[in-house]
Amino acid sequence: MHPSRLVILGDPVEHSLSPRFQGAAIRAAGLTISYDALRVGKQDLPRVASELLAANTGGNITAPHKIAFLPLCSEVSAVAVRVGAVNTFWVDEGKLCADNTDVGGFDAAARQALGEIPEGLKVGLIGAGGAAAAVIGAIQDWPGAKVSVYSRTAARAQALAQRFGDSVSVESTLRGALLEVDLVVNATPIGMNDDALPFAISDLPRGAVVMDLVYRKGGTALTRGAVQAGFRALDGTAMLVEQGALSFERWFGFAPDKTVMLASLK
Ligand code: NAP
Repeated sequence: MHPSRLVILGDPVEHSLSPRFQGAAIRAAGLTISYDALRVGKQDLPRVASELLAANTGGNITAPHKIAFLPLCSEVSAVAVRVGAVNTFWVDEGKLCADNTDVGGFDAAARQALGEIPEGLKVGLIGAGGAAAAVIGAIQDWPGAKVSVYSRTAARAQALAQRFGDSVSVESTLRGALLEVDLVVNATPIGMNDDALPFAISDLPRGAVVMDLVYRKGGTALTRGAVQAGFRALDGTAMLVEQGALSFERWFGFAPDKTVMLASLK
């Protein structure tokens, strides 16, 4: 049985594009179920979780609740446990279940950017929050891949390296994380609301592919600048749609029309 209703929980959450593109996919599939943004404070999360369970509600979790929601669920996918955060939930046989589709969403977007993933890929990762954890969760399944992570708060990068082990090394400088890598990933919110850059375009290593998890209409300053300088670059729209498509599959048991999702964002 699919959910009676869908919501995205966050605080704030009004900016989320999920109601828009999930709503478009739901309508295109001929379903009439609603998908709403629900602003929930941290202290209300346990109460809201039990209300969602009782009302057979599914949905998504966004900042700042991706970590705090995990222990409120009875069944959590292995990948979400590995990453330590969830972004998708639903009710099954009276239990609140959760997964982290950011991991598969990043993987699918990276395959759009890179094509086949070559063995031993070197990745420079800027930022060490929840999205960075999902990125590493995906990269860990790529044969021989190594990640150099830089975060302005060094302790957060160290915590990530501890969680994921040998394939992740911590760099003390931003330039160090970008040195001789094949793929550069911006997992900070820099550039979300303006044309700020997480690093200078001139710092990009030659031939690297650039993925910005931030999405903006027409691309971010980073992806626009990188493309102008001759790099292959993808903003976070691809990951947004891919993680959303995987969430949709968890709720309804079939794949949505991703072209409808993408078109609703343009
Ligand atoms: P988060 O948990 O708050 O982590 C943000 C990271 O960025 C932290 O390492 C933080 O460092 C760093 N940071 C923030 N502002 C910075 C600044 N001005 N200068 C340098 N570093 C800065 O956030 P998140 O959940 O990982 O999300 C990060 C971004 O990814 C957001 O823009 C989000 O929208 C995007 N995202 C996109 C998708 C997608 O589908 N495309 C999915 C998930 C997330 P400190 O610890 O020092 O603050």
